[in-house]
Amino acid sequence: MRGNTLYIVVPCYNEEEVLPETARRLGEKLKALMTAGKISPQSRALFVNDGSKDRTWEVITRLHKENPLLCGADLSRNRGHQNALLAGLMTAKDKADMVISMDADLQDDVDAADAMVDKYLAGADIVYGVRSSRKTDTFFKRTTAEAFYRMMDLLGAETVFNHADYRLMSRRALEGLAQFQEVNLFLRGIVPMIGYPTDTVEYERGERFAGESKYPLKKMISFALEGVTSLSVKPLRLITGLGFLVFFVSLIMIAYNVVRWATGNTVTGWASLACSVWLIGGLILLSLGVIGEYMGKLYLESKGRPRFIIQQLLDEEHSGDQQ
Ligand code: UDP
Ligand code: MG
Repeated sequence: MRGNTLYIVVPCYNEEEVLPETARRLGEKLKALMTAGKISPQSRALFVNDGSKDRTWEVITRLHKENPLLCGADLSRNRGHQNALLAGLMTAKDKADMVISMDADLQDDVDAADAMVDKYLAGADIVYGVRSSRKTDTFFKRTTAEAFYRMMDLLGAETVFNHADYRLMSRRALEGLAQFQEVNLFLRGIVPMIGYPTDTVEYERGERFAGESKYPLKKMISFALEGVTSLSVKPLRLITGLGFLVFFVSLIMIAYNVVRWATGNTVTGWASLACSVWLIGGLILLSLGVIGEYMGKLYLESKGRPRFIIQQLLDEEHSGDQQ
């Protein structure tokens, strides 16, 4: 029989507006699941404060005092969504048998957690929350997000379509995750690599309850690039392909010019020359840039810097102490 202590991990960056409501709903959800006997009384919700600039940590501290089912972990500074999530998962791993990760803004339907827990109890190690529609997203968010998945696919980064970071993971799946030591962690690409029995749960993604998205277009693009370069070397292969193509074109050019020369038609072709210089120069710079991206990654990986530092942990045993 598998244990049934559940931790719900919620990364929070400047979320003071939504947190009280999120906490209320998660508290209720935990209670309901406990009453139904599906999860143990040791189950908790863990809010990870990702170096927020607003009063998020104060709110978490207050919530913890009011309701011991709500815990908190305070990161030493802002490390970004993926690292905050990882910090929460790694903290929860030692206390829980299953962990659900969820955004703070209530876009992930809290009620889908029931089905996730059921599937865990039925034997799944990873349960992906897959959104059934994007009706509530703005047109801009929907098209950019779908372009994101398509581009990832095209460039060789396999991910679960329309799955963000709303998922359940068992303890052994988390132990698997802990063995992925990379600094540039792209969770939704790494998790499928862990293996074990998986399942999915469909849910309707709602609108952000309050506050605004912490993923503006700029962050989304860099997140997509991060994903591609973390998961695939296809861009490097594309460069090789491009090199072959340009080489082939240059062979044709040479043949053409030789024929023109032999027929005595060599006119000075300034335009074609200028164009080729720009084209080849551009392609070389682009290729160098792509190679540079991977070099940069190697550089960061070789340093093996810590991915997060937790400065304070709030739960019963550790109330208030420095970690
Ligand atoms: N988040 C975080 N650190 C960051 C940015 C975001 O922990 O640097 C959290 C944020 O609080 C939220 C989740 O990541 O719980 C997803 O962010 P958001 O809802 O803004 O993204 P969107 O749903 O718009 O893609
Ligand atoms: Mg959101």
